[in-house]
Amino acid sequence: LDQAVADRQPVVLDLARVDLAFDRLTLMRELPGAMTGGQIFLQYQPKVHVRRREIASAEALVRWQHPTRGLILPGDFISVAEQAGEIAALTLWTLRQVIWDQKRLAVEGHDLTLFINISGLLLADIAFVDAACEIVGDGAARIGFEITETAVIRDPDSAIRHLQRFADIGVTLAIDDYGAGLSSLAYLKKLPARELKIDKMFVMQLTSSNRDPLIVRSTIDLAHALEMEVVAEGVETPSALALLTVMGCDMVQGFLISRPLGFDGFRRFLDENSLFDGALGNPTFARP
Ligand code: C2E
Ligand code: MG
Ligand code: MG
Ligand code: MG
Repeated sequence: LDQAVADRQPVVLDLARVDLAFDRLTLMRELPGAMTGGQIFLQYQPKVHVRRREIASAEALVRWQHPTRGLILPGDFISVAEQAGEIAALTLWTLRQVIWDQKRLAVEGHDLTLFINISGLLLADIAFVDAACEIVGDGAARIGFEITETAVIRDPDSAIRHLQRFADIGVTLAIDDYGAGLSSLAYLKKLPARELKIDKMFVMQLTSSNRDPLIVRSTIDLAHALEMEVVAEGVETPSALALLTVMGCDMVQGFLISRPLGFDGFRRFLDENSLFDGALGNPTFARP
C-alpha cells in the first residue's frame, strides 16, 4: 500500500479475495464449536467389488451442516481446519465415529471396513499417530485409512514408519487420488498399502478420452504387480463400469453405485443390496 501511494497508483482491492479470506477466518473461528455442537457429520459412500459382486467397504466423507450457510463440503473446510490447527481433532472425532458406526453395522450383519481420509499433515504429527493408534486399539472394528502419496513425499521415512504402525494394528491402508498429484513409483513400492484408488480425473472421461483408458489400464497392471487391489473412484456411467471390468479393476466407487449417504440411508442401502447381484436398481450395473 505504501508503495502504491508513493507511486501514486490507484489501490485496487480484489473484493472476491477479501471475501474469501474473511470467510476462511470466520469458518476457522466457528469450527471448534461446530465439532462440539453436532454440526459435523459423516456420509458414507460404498466401494463395490466388481468380481465378488458385493459391497466391499465404504468411505466416510465429512460434512458441515452450518446453521446459516447450509451444507459445507470438505473441499471448503478441510484446508481451513488444517490452517486452524484443528485437523487432528477433526480426524480423531471422525475416527471415533466410524469405529462406533462400524460396530453398529457389524452387529446388524454388515461387517464391512469403513475408511476415513487422513490429511498428509497428520502423518508427521506424532501426537496424532499415537492418539489414532490408541483409539483403534485392539482392532476390533474393521477400519481403513485413505492417504495421498503427496503426504508421504514430504518426510518419507517417518510417514512410512507411521503407516507401518497403522498397518501393524490392523488398519487397511489405501492410496487415495492416485495419479492426481506427484506420484512416485519409489514410494509406491515401499508403502504398506493394500489398495490403490485411481483418481476420478482419469475415470470420469474414461470412455470419451483417448489417453485415460491407457493410463487406467497400466495403473491397474502396476498395482496388481505390486499385489494391491485397485479402486476406481468417480464411476458415473455404465460404460465406464463395463470398461473397468474388462480392464480387471477390482473395485468401483461413484455416483453410478451410490452418492455419499447419511448413516441411516447407508444402512438402508446395505439392507437393500446385501446381495449385490442383480441389485442396486440398475440392470446395466448388475450385468456389466
Ligand atoms: P476423496 O477422498 O477423493 O473423495 C472423493 C470425492 O469425490 C468426494 O467428494 C465424493 O463425494 C466425490 N465423488 C464420489 N463419487 C463421485 C462421482 O461419481 N463423481 C464425482 N464427480 N464425484 C464423486 P467430497 O465428499 O466433496 O470430498 C472431497 C475431498 O475431501 C475428499 O476427496 C477427501 O480428500 C477430503 N475429505 C473428505 N472427508 C475428509 C476427512 O474426514 N478428512 C480429511 N482430511 N479429508 C477429507
Ligand atoms: Mg478418499
Ligand atoms: Mg479419492
Ligand atoms: Mg479424489
